[in-house]
Amino acid sequence: MRIDMHTHSTASDGTLSPTAVLDRAALLELDVIALTDHDTFAGLDEAQIAASRVGVSLVEGVELSCMWSGNGDPVRLHLLGYLMDRDDPALAEGLRRVRDDRVPRLQRMTERLAADGIEITWDQVAAVAGSSSVGRPHLADALIATGAVADREEAFDRYLHQGTPYYVPHAAFEVLDAIRLVIGTGGVTVFAHPLARSRGRTVPDEAIEQMTDAGLAGLEVDHRDHSAEDRAHLRGLAARLDLLTTGSSDYHGTGKKDNELGENLTAPDQWERLQATATPPGARRPRV
Ligand code: AMP
Ligand code: FE
Ligand code: FE
Ligand code: ZN
Repeated sequence: MRIDMHTHSTASDGTLSPTAVLDRAALLELDVIALTDHDTFAGLDEAQIAASRVGVSLVEGVELSCMWSGNGDPVRLHLLGYLMDRDDPALAEGLRRVRDDRVPRLQRMTERLAADGIEITWDQVAAVAGSSSVGRPHLADALIATGAVADREEAFDRYLHQGTPYYVPHAAFEVLDAIRLVIGTGGVTVFAHPLARSRGRTVPDEAIEQMTDAGLAGLEVDHRDHSAEDRAHLRGLAARLDLLTTGSSDYHGTGKKDNELGENLTAPDQWERLQATATPPGARRPRV
């Protein structure tokens, strides 16, 4: 069984449509893939139709933008939600709040770049940012279109990473709230790339302990942004805290260099365990 638990489509910042992601998954002989667009379920209906057609099993997922404020200055992090109730009003409202703030935030980043002499306008960004959940990769695409940079990587290195003066954060969930929210709908949560240090500050183990107390089910261990030492550390932590572990590609189409579906995989027993942790739709608590 080839299982990839973290992928993106044009519903957020991937470059392939949900249908094209599923076609590619079939081509690469994956058995199970989760579509986990940033803060949106918008790609899931299309993905389900494509999944049935190509015979790949689709896991409904989402990657929630979160922060951990346990030590004062909030650390930004990503939480993967799986098998949740997409129709839950509180979850849908929380996601909408984050998505809605992504637009003015990207406008502010565009203004900061322009004010510093980088020729870019909001119209140019809006022209390439058609997705329901816009982010820095779309601003990167606009900078590619104007010729300012060659690819998304160069855009992030020069203008978009968290340490630049152009960076503006967007609204995000408090991670302990997000875990409880997803679980409350019957879903399962996994901490995405917990030690991806190249993206900014990462959380201490203490945060993972708090997240576990809130109901976190697993850690994404095998991920392109983790070194061998990171993976060993996370595996040890998962064993100590009785968390499951996943591996995944964090596929973004051509949005990231040398990034391919299935480049990291989740072990079948861990996938079994994840499914067993979810509450099946028939057994979910009724909504009031
Ligand atoms: P945002 O949610 O708008 O803050 O953007 C975060 C997204 O930027 C991540 O999910 C990645 O997809 C993307 N990203 C971060 N660093 C890079 C990079 N060096 N190259 C390409 N994409 C990146
Ligand atoms: Fe992304
Ligand atoms: Fe992420
Ligand atoms: Zn991701």
